Amino acid sequence: MANGYAGQILRVNLSTKGVAKQPLSEELIQEFVGGRGFVAKLLWDELPPGTDPLGEDNMVVMAAGPLTGLFVPGSGKTHFGTKSPATGGYGDSNMGGHFAPTMKYAGYDVIIVTGKAAGPSILVVDDSRVEVRDGAEYWGMGAIDCEKALKDDLGEEFQIITVGPAAEKLVKYACISHDFGRQAGRTGVGTVFGSKNLKAVAVRGTGTIPVVDPAGALEKGKAMYQSCYNKPGFQGWTPFGTAGITDWVNEVGAFPTRNFQTSYFKKYKEINGAALREKILVTDKGCFGCPIPCGKYSRARTKLGQVTVEGPEYETIALLGGNCSLDKIEEVAYANYICDQLGIDTISGGAVVSFAVECFEKGLLSETQIGRKIAFGDLESIVYLLEKIATREGIGDLLAEGVRTAAARIGGGSDKFAIHIKGLEWSGYECRNAPGMMLSYMTADVGAHHNRAWALGFDISGGSGSVTDLIQGKGERPASLSVFDPAAYAAKVDKVIELQHMRPMFDLLGVCRLQWVEIGMEVSHYEEIMPLISGKQMSLADLLVVSERVWNLTRAFSAREIPGFGRSFDYPPGRFLEERIPDGPSAGRVMSKEEADWLLDEYYRKRGWDENGLPTAATLEGLGLGFAAETAASRAK
Ligand code: SF4
Repeated sequence: MANGYAGQILRVNLSTKGVAKQPLSEELIQEFVGGRGFVAKLLWDELPPGTDPLGEDNMVVMAAGPLTGLFVPGSGKTHFGTKSPATGGYGDSNMGGHFAPTMKYAGYDVIIVTGKAAGPSILVVDDSRVEVRDGAEYWGMGAIDCEKALKDDLGEEFQIITVGPAAEKLVKYACISHDFGRQAGRTGVGTVFGSKNLKAVAVRGTGTIPVVDPAGALEKGKAMYQSCYNKPGFQGWTPFGTAGITDWVNEVGAFPTRNFQTSYFKKYKEINGAALREKILVTDKGCFGCPIPCGKYSRARTKLGQVTVEGPEYETIALLGGNCSLDKIEEVAYANYICDQLGIDTISGGAVVSFAVECFEKGLLSETQIGRKIAFGDLESIVYLLEKIATREGIGDLLAEGVRTAAARIGGGSDKFAIHIKGLEWSGYECRNAPGMMLSYMTADVGAHHNRAWALGFDISGGSGSVTDLIQGKGERPASLSVFDPAAYAAKVDKVIELQHMRPMFDLLGVCRLQWVEIGMEVSHYEEIMPLISGKQMSLADLLVVSERVWNLTRAFSAREIPGFGRSFDYPPGRFLEERIPDGPSAGRVMSKEEADWLLDEYYRKRGWDENGLPTAATLEGLGLGFAAETAASRAK
């Protein structure tokens, strides 16, 4: 068994209730390391081309990395991958908590679920005992309520992932929930659980993970923790978590507001990290092995009732706060709780709801169609729409499809303000004044998700671009609007590519990236601890090559699965190319189509992709992906 790994893949076919275990191959480890790498390769190899995302043949791959579950900061990440019902292409999402460590203690680096259960089911993995059980009594429960019920029924030591009613109704952006507030929110990974009648997976693990040099790894792990504690950013980060960046994003004019109509929310101090801490915080909460707990457990009272919820974190504040114009932290927390129970991704949920409100304001959706008047800033409107979406009642049936499909059906030019890329709704950064970040969204393999390359700091401040520096006011604030400059734009392309390689590295290893990106823990620690755990030298450069391999493979996957996939899927929505930001620090800025094309041309060239944005055969072969060359190119035509 390879050191650092549990050594097995667990396969469960829900149609037959068949269970199989196979050794984790050395080749898979060597070429794809773990986590997101395993997800990408297994999907490529095993998903039949052309599979319906909601069909029996789709798979959900859950994967850990070689550092998951060990004494390394933030080593609790689980990676989920599937053919996305939201985009039709490659989909993945990850979450913190305790699930993947427990999965490894039970003996599995990867769990693959295929098929479709005859009725509502749960999967119980208790070390070597694996069983698909009847889950009818849990069907219909809120995601958090279901986790609580399963803890009561199975035992506190089980780590549990669940989906909510939205997944049962096949809402295209349903999430997987865990640890009473952690979500794998993006790309509809929860929807695929729902399509398989899979309500939950519960895992208990009592084994260990082999490590080549336990004493050395322990010492190195301690140094990594100490590095986090010693960083200047540590004190500033932990009290607020990701919510701490709300002020900065507003002050540089990048905060999604009223369905991305503008980029500055005047009342941001009512929903920022300080408001969270002062008004609703109960306690800080962290994932497995985390020294910088960003989770904020909160209790909030609104006119609709009182809730206890983990959050809101920054993305939720951006999409349910500014973008829906909720201007009280209690109301954002309430909407957060509704999403969490229903099992709706707060990013896509907030984006879809704000899109619907703008459609109503513009007369493209009527009061009769919606069932009531709706308005920005009105909590009742937001909750009403979220509940309609989760049940697919009335207008909710259309909105459950996401903004791309909803706009295509509503018409009237609504596609211009359906804010998405590749069908995935845009997360929490308005980028008409941030070309690097815009390119990051345009080229993100899963669609408009910020976590692929957070280039905003580099756009705005240059310098280190670290979040801690930005919050502390280091680096330049935007003195003027970005204007097209080939040298500056070329540097942005380089930075986006660099980040698109750096960030997956954490996902391969199975650790949280926030210790690096937020606190500034040195990435060199990872290449130093890997030999102590696995016995193999793996330099940072080696890891970045694997990242590039994965990035090209996921692009090839989408080319294989989406007819006509290519450049046309990489453009931002019309609003960003045609409407100037009306007010705030970025007022007047718009990205022209010419700028977008220049960025794409430069990006494709530097990546070794053709002018349609498809990896060339030479590029794929150079990365050891020759097996993908022919299939991807022929399917994309
Ligand atoms: Fe989890 Fe936040 Fe810690 Fe990352 S920083 S491991 S997301 S608590």
